[in-house]
Amino acid sequence: MQVIVAEHAGFCWGVKRAIERAINIREEAQDTVYVLGHLVHNENVVQKLDAMDIKVVVNFTDAKKGSVLLITAHGLDYKIIQQAKDAGFRVVDTTCPIVQKVHRFTHRFVDEGRQIIIIGHQDHIEVKGINSVTDGRAEIINNIQEIKDLHLTAQGRVGIVAQTTFNVMEMQAIVEALKQQFPNTDFQMKDSICYDVKDKQSEIRILSERVDAVVVVGSLTSSNTTRLYEIAREVCPNTYFVSTAKELNDIDFTGIKTVGVAAGASTPDWIIEEVIEKMENR
Ligand code: SF4
Repeated sequence: MQVIVAEHAGFCWGVKRAIERAINIREEAQDTVYVLGHLVHNENVVQKLDAMDIKVVVNFTDAKKGSVLLITAHGLDYKIIQQAKDAGFRVVDTTCPIVQKVHRFTHRFVDEGRQIIIIGHQDHIEVKGINSVTDGRAEIINNIQEIKDLHLTAQGRVGIVAQTTFNVMEMQAIVEALKQQFPNTDFQMKDSICYDVKDKQSEIRILSERVDAVVVVGSLTSSNTTRLYEIAREVCPNTYFVSTAKELNDIDFTGIKTVGVAAGASTPDWIIEEVIEKMENR
């Protein structure tokens, strides 16, 4: 079985940056450091960090008073950050600069008096952080069908931003549909999808056409990995999602000659390597 690995598989720059900062801060602090949510959407990475005394908390009230509290690469609602500071935590923000850029775009649109549409997943922490720039007033849509539920009120002036890990082609389709359905609205769009996500998505589209099967490595909690799985599946029906090499045991590769391997921005190298090794040994 020939295994072809996607060039951009694995950690993106923003994830590496957040992990390095967390480890450095833990060393400096000489004490437990807390993260508000998962620093990276991958259980294996979260466990490794936990073993280094970098602990996940759901609410900052679960952390030791006065300790270091890390904000994840996805960003967070500004109100929660302020509450944590007011409660005496030493807040360290590892929000990816690309996510921060989306916050700035959104701010600019708000200053221009535009109503905001966020193309993204409503429950994702990144989208909640972006929406906090608008004081929670943005309209959030995830697909073309949801356009009918929009309440566009700001005298026909709208700013659109997208979650950094959204599917590029779906975002374009939503923007086109918005323009068609609201021809008198002045839409300003910032293509805020991350360059790493775009590279991974276009690469998996091409790779999926060349192989008999695709294995996407990562966590189901990772938005960008799930998008890779969905794209591969559209092109190649033999697409599988695994979080570790062990899960390959459940896949029947009979008759498969070539397999493409891709991994999301939160998947660590050691898991990708284990998956590749196991497949090459079959
Ligand atoms: Fe930053 Fe892009 Fe990585 Fe998200 S996927 S953390 S936006 S570099």
